[in-house]
Amino acid sequence: MPRFNVHICLLAAMAVPLSQVNAQADFHLLDIKSVDPTIVVELRYAGRNNLVGHSLYPLGTYAVARPEVASGLAAAQAFLRRYQYRLKVWDAYRPPSVQLKLWQASHNNDYVANPETGVGSLHSWGVAVDVTLIDSWSRPVPMPSDFDDFTPAAMWRYAGPDPEIRTHVHLLQMAMRNAGFLGLRTEWWHFTLADWKKYLPPDKVQAAVQVFGTQWQGKL
Ligand SMILES: [Zn+2]
Repeated sequence: MPRFNVHICLLAAMAVPLSQVNAQADFHLLDIKSVDPTIVVELRYAGRNNLVGHSLYPLGTYAVARPEVASGLAAAQAFLRRYQYRLKVWDAYRPPSVQLKLWQASHNNDYVANPETGVGSLHSWGVAVDVTLIDSWSRPVPMPSDFDDFTPAAMWRYAGPDPEIRTHVHLLQMAMRNAGFLGLRTEWWHFTLADWKKYLPPDKVQAAVQVFGTQWQGKL
């Protein structure tokens, strides 16, 4: 696979850490916090608190995505702030090299997309994000499950008994839907641009649509 230069809009002073993303993208990516600095970023694959137990991103990696994702998140953030909540980003653009490590380490191809088949993960196309809700003081609030919880607790439709959790997940879904994102049935934290197809080459869209609802849907 040819390597391309990643084209990221950034200030010169920010270029060093962003370059460490080691991205393999031929499309435009933007630092999410450059669009809305109030969005909190905690890249779970940049530390040990993830399913592989070690960091997959270099220290100082920024959360980057297509500009349309970044502006959509800013719109969702503006909505949530009216209710005294905010967004926290757990993951955004994910280079195929990192997706491959994740797929190899997870040993669970029911949930993690193989980057070498089909379209791989839509994170690697810069059109998907993983987000959760926090309060105005950036404290976690009760949600249905932790990140990358591959159990029924992670389903889009919350089926548990806690009304506070139900309110939180509903608020997050409303904010993201109003901002132009679609959710994923098996992962309440995962959102894709509703018009994601226009960002992929036609053959990749076809491949994605063919497996949509079977293998592709439900993989992070
Ligand atoms: Zn995701």
